[in-house]
Amino acid sequence: MEKEKSEKKLGIALVGLGKYSAGQLAPALQETQHCYLAGIVTGSALKASEWKARHHLPDTNIYDYTTFDSIAGNKDIDIVYVVLPNSMHAEYVIRAAKAGKHVICEKPMALTVEDCDRMITACKEAGKMLSIGYRLHFEPHTRELIEYGRSKRFGEWNLIRAENGMGSTEGWRLNKEMAGGGPLMDVGIYCVQGTRYITGLEPISVTAQEGPKKSPERFKNIEESLSWQFEFPNGIIAQCKSSYADEYNLLRAEGSSGWVELSPAYAYNGIKGKTSEINLSLPEVNQQAKQMDDFAIAIKSNRPTPVPGEMGRQDVKLLQAIYQAMKTGEKIMIG
Ligand code: NAD
Repeated sequence: MEKEKSEKKLGIALVGLGKYSAGQLAPALQETQHCYLAGIVTGSALKASEWKARHHLPDTNIYDYTTFDSIAGNKDIDIVYVVLPNSMHAEYVIRAAKAGKHVICEKPMALTVEDCDRMITACKEAGKMLSIGYRLHFEPHTRELIEYGRSKRFGEWNLIRAENGMGSTEGWRLNKEMAGGGPLMDVGIYCVQGTRYITGLEPISVTAQEGPKKSPERFKNIEESLSWQFEFPNGIIAQCKSSYADEYNLLRAEGSSGWVELSPAYAYNGIKGKTSEINLSLPEVNQQAKQMDDFAIAIKSNRPTPVPGEMGRQDVKLLQAIYQAMKTGEKIMIG
């Protein structure tokens, strides 16, 4: 009986069938060993019929945003994966928890720390697990860097550089109410994560500067680019930047006896790494498949997820501190 239970693939329902669900998560769910695409939640009848045909989904596992709460009675669905615009994460995570489902929430977890707290509480009250879509924790080059940091393979870190910029963006990502901000919320969050996982420490203060706007008419209420500097314990400095105007993709750490670098560092594939000694040659994996399988295993074996809601909450807290530093021009201490 126990064996049967652990071998059962858990059913995942994707909420929001946009680019990330269609381009990355659904294909990854063809590769997963411990979970599968069991259902969808979409506001589009056209997408519902296309996904139903492509993924052989029964009508009973197809929901729209008004029928979503009745997913509570659906035994095929164990996990709800919220892949909606940022401002909608909190509502749908809480509704999923109230429906008695485990939840994966895309990054950034929410727009405010208060919302993160409500999401964590809702999952705890429902006795369900909450994880954030931090796929890089399951990526071999990233894991190797985390291990270098832990083992002090290159001595004590002095300087971290974390940079993530995309040449353009569109749609709800330009709308402050839906995105919560500009590139910081969307791609800069990877730099926040990178500095945390490579040091294994939490920043104690931040300064930040908004970059000049090349397209002020498109970036009315949000930054087009920004730079920020975290100060970590032991005098470690992290210099970070993020943009919707320029492309870059780097995580580099300089230690007392060598350096490591990933570039690209945050991509879905093709991550490349080198150190002051060697070029890293590690396998390419499907990050999203590994991430979802790990969550399914965590649920089945009743162990914690390495990427819990609390980790997402800390990032949101840091994103808010960066914006505060950017707006005030002051050094913000992070409690
Ligand atoms: P997208 O715009 O392609 O998809 C969003 C989906 O939400 C669409 O299907 C849209 O129809 C639906 N939606 C429902 N209500 C909406 C509304 N009121 N306004 C706009 N859209 C609405 O976006 P995406 O790139 O798939 O991103 C979705 C989430 O996934 C974001 O939070 C993003 O940060 C995250 N994401 C994560 C990664 C990653 O690598 N972990 C990569 C891409 C996106």
